[in-house]
Amino acid sequence: MATTVDTGLTVIRDPASGDEVGRVPQAGPADAAEAIGRAAEAFPGWWETPAAARGAIVRAGAEAVLAQRDELARQLTLEQGKPLREARIEITRFVHTIEHYAGLAKSLRGAYVPNLDVRTHGLVVRRPLGVVVAIVPWNFPTTLLGNKLGPALVCGNTLVAKPAESTPLTTLRIAELMREAGLPDGVFQVITGKGSVLGEALVTDPRVAKVAFTGSTPVGKHVAELAARGVKRVTLELGGSDPMIILDDADVDAAVSAASVGRFFNCGQACLAVKRLYVHERVVDEVVDKLRAKVAKLTLGAGSAEGTMLGPLHSEAQRATLEEQVSDTLARGGELLAGGGRPDGTELEAGWFYEPTLIFEPPHESKVAVEEVFGPALPIWTVRGLGEAIERANASQFGLGSSVWTRDLTAATLAAERLEAGYTWVNSPQIVYDELPFGGFGESGLGKEHGNEALDYYQESKSVVVRQSPR
Ligand code: NDP
Repeated sequence: MATTVDTGLTVIRDPASGDEVGRVPQAGPADAAEAIGRAAEAFPGWWETPAAARGAIVRAGAEAVLAQRDELARQLTLEQGKPLREARIEITRFVHTIEHYAGLAKSLRGAYVPNLDVRTHGLVVRRPLGVVVAIVPWNFPTTLLGNKLGPALVCGNTLVAKPAESTPLTTLRIAELMREAGLPDGVFQVITGKGSVLGEALVTDPRVAKVAFTGSTPVGKHVAELAARGVKRVTLELGGSDPMIILDDADVDAAVSAASVGRFFNCGQACLAVKRLYVHERVVDEVVDKLRAKVAKLTLGAGSAEGTMLGPLHSEAQRATLEEQVSDTLARGGELLAGGGRPDGTELEAGWFYEPTLIFEPPHESKVAVEEVFGPALPIWTVRGLGEAIERANASQFGLGSSVWTRDLTAATLAAERLEAGYTWVNSPQIVYDELPFGGFGESGLGKEHGNEALDYYQESKSVVVRQSPR
């Protein structure tokens, strides 16, 4: 949570209590231009640094972050609200992603094409883009940065990151640690301020070659429009409404566990999260009973409190949106199975808490079915078979993740082929692997992060024709 004070500073507040946890400068267009200038100046030197050396420096940065993991996790919990355990996982994920790309530094490759003509061969040369701007939201401030920072730096680009206005503190500290570990000046900078002012100044600066954006679909579209004016490269990682399908032959216990973690991790504020559940009619009662039992055990509390499993929502606005989505849905139909409101208890009153919520059979056109729900509320529907489940699952403008639970190989294969989403998990919790490309279909995004594929989005390839003089 963030508020502006008239001294040009933003006050960062703990979502569990509203207490101030830090202040950061509110940078504007002039600061953006200065940061881009430093990044542009640093670019030639970083590009010329041998790839193996770039990888080693980036790896040293990751190690420096890992050494401070507990301090960073505490900071992240204070500004974001998530339980400490999840904050530690997030910092560890950031480190793993950076290490993954540091390891790929020595594998950057172009191509050689022989005998194009007499005494003539071709080269496909791959080179960095230049200055990259990374715009990152507040739900996973560090991992969503890591997905951009790792490939960008390893390929030889320099990067200016703009964290969400309300979660800049951990990112600033990470940049400091990586600089101390050897990243040259200007190679990785963090600049703090409002998206609508600072973000736009960064995106529209003509010296910026690429914008890597994660956030909401409407802002992503706007950023892409701005970037298009300068024909800049863009990757977009936007909203999602991931369906999970549980068929009648599934391992119900494992599926229910994945649904619960997939929906309630990070208080439901994840782009990849189980946001719609379609269950075969033969197992729906069992799934509902087991889910209710799981939800009853989720302990709400401040992220920093021992034993907390579900922290507060990140901001008052997030909770208000969720409350509106749930109340609008219930007014149209559906049965409330759990939660549905703010928790009792004075110790939770100061924060943006909301109970874990299950809604059975809401109308298919209700808000929880058609909008992205960025909070701890899960709608559940009964389906008669895989065909109906896939049809329902695909009836969305989003296409980020999806999952299917079944022991039937044919059904699993069909679902993996037909689900309109950039990721499908079969009998697996929604875990993102650095090894696999990740990016949404439809309004969920453009381009890929993770995998070797991410490297393609931080390099330009050019063709070179070489004709030798006759001997
Ligand atoms: P936004 O898309 O508004 O913000 C994401 C990032 O973009 C932030 O750093 C923000 O800065 C920046 N930004 C905002 N406006 C501009 C602009 N005009 N030009 C450049 N950058 C800009 O997401 P919110 O944080 O407001 O969340 C709103 C909704 O988005 C959520 O309810 C959720 O549905 C979805 N969301 C999806 C995420 C995902 O991972 N798919 C992640 C986060 C949100 P600032 O914080 O300063 O406004």
